[in-house]
Amino acid sequence: MKILHYKFVDFIPEELEGDILYISLEFKTAIHLCPCGCGNQVVTPFSPTDWKLIFDGDSVSLYPSIGSWALPCKSHYWIKNNKIEWAPLWHEREISKLRKKEKKEKKKFFKKSKKKLIREQLF
Ligand SMILES: [Zn+2]
Repeated sequence: MKILHYKFVDFIPEELEGDILYISLEFKTAIHLCPCGCGNQVVTPFSPTDWKLIFDGDSVSLYPSIGSWALPCKSHYWIKNNKIEWAPLWHEREISKLRKKEKKEKKKFFKKSKKKLIREQLF
């Protein structure tokens, strides 16, 4: 099983080392090189509709899984307790289904937060 180390950084370095998850709390994002070895950078922003970082003081996990559908390798894996856990290969149909679902959830989330904002302005 592949181990991914983590590093909390102020700035994301220009040259990334493989096997390291760079975490910037200030910019609310993490970045790492695709663990398949293709050399592409994978950015995982933290937000209620993107990724959550779980840091237990010893290891990091990201939730949900990371699916690099836009990359040629289409890697899909979890980062759990500093370990890369590969997910089973997905078919195009499942990918597009998930993408649609994610879009819908995003829309719902932003609609909700907009409504809340309006409500807060009213009262
Ligand atoms: Zn890759």
